[in-house]
Amino acid sequence: MQKIIIAIDGYAATGKSTQAKRLAQHLNYTYIDSGAMYRAVTYFALENNFCTTSQEHWNPQPLVTALGQLQLEMRFEDGQTVVLLDGEDVTPALRDHRVAQWVSTVAAVPEVRHFLVAEQQRIGRAKGIVMDGRDIGTVVFPEAELKFFFTADAKIRAQRRFEELQNVQPNLTFEAVLENVVQRDQQDASRAVSPLRKADDAITIDVSQLSIDATFDKILATLNTGG
Ligand code: C5P
Repeated sequence: MQKIIIAIDGYAATGKSTQAKRLAQHLNYTYIDSGAMYRAVTYFALENNFCTTSQEHWNPQPLVTALGQLQLEMRFEDGQTVVLLDGEDVTPALRDHRVAQWVSTVAAVPEVRHFLVAEQQRIGRAKGIVMDGRDIGTVVFPEAELKFFFTADAKIRAQRRFEELQNVQPNLTFEAVLENVVQRDQQDASRAVSPLRKADDAITIDVSQLSIDATFDKILATLNTGG
C-alpha cells in the first residue's frame, strides 16, 4: 500500500499521542509528536531565563533571536519522539507543569511556528508518518490524505491527564491540570497564526465516552473504508 500522511489534531489531552503512536505502530509508520517540539522550545526559553516576566507582559524577542542557535534534534525511537537540545535528551522535562503553563504563549510566536513548521514538513516529506498537534491538517500538511480531529469534555480530559501525571508530579492537583487544559485550548484556538481548528476535511472523534481501544477501533474503521 502506498504510504500516506495522517494528521491528528485536536484539543489538549484528548489522547491524540496515544492513538497516533498506536496507529503508527499498526501501519509501521513513524509517529511524530509536534507538541514535543513546541514544548522543547519552551523548555529552552525557560532554561535560558527568557520567561521571567508574567505571560501577559512577555517579550519574545530574546527567544526569537536565540532560535538561530538552537540545536534541536528529534529522534523517533520505539514510538516516542525523543528531543535533544544541544545534544542533551530533554524528553522527560517536557511534561513539567511549568512547560505546560508557558507552551501556548511560546507557540503563539510566529517565528517559533515558522521554525518548527519547516522542520515538521522536512520530516514528513518521506511520508509514512502519523503526526499529532494543533495545525497539522490545516497548515503543516493540508494535503494529508487522512485527518482526524479529537475533542472531549474538558473535565474528562483533565482527569485523564491528572491520572497520567500523578505518579511523576505528586504535588499537582486536578484543579491545576483542568485550568491548564482550558487555558491552553483558549490560547491555541485564539492565536493569530495557525490557530487550533478543525480542517474542513477532518473526521471529528469525540473521545469523552470512548476507551482507548474503542477510539482506536473507530480510527481503524475509517482507515479500512478509505476515510
Ligand atoms: O500536544 P501537546 O499538548 O504536547 O502540545 C503542547 C502545546 O504545544 C499546545 O498546547 C500548543 O500550544 C502547542 N502546539 C501547537 N501546534 C502544534 C502542536 C502543539 O501550537 N502542532
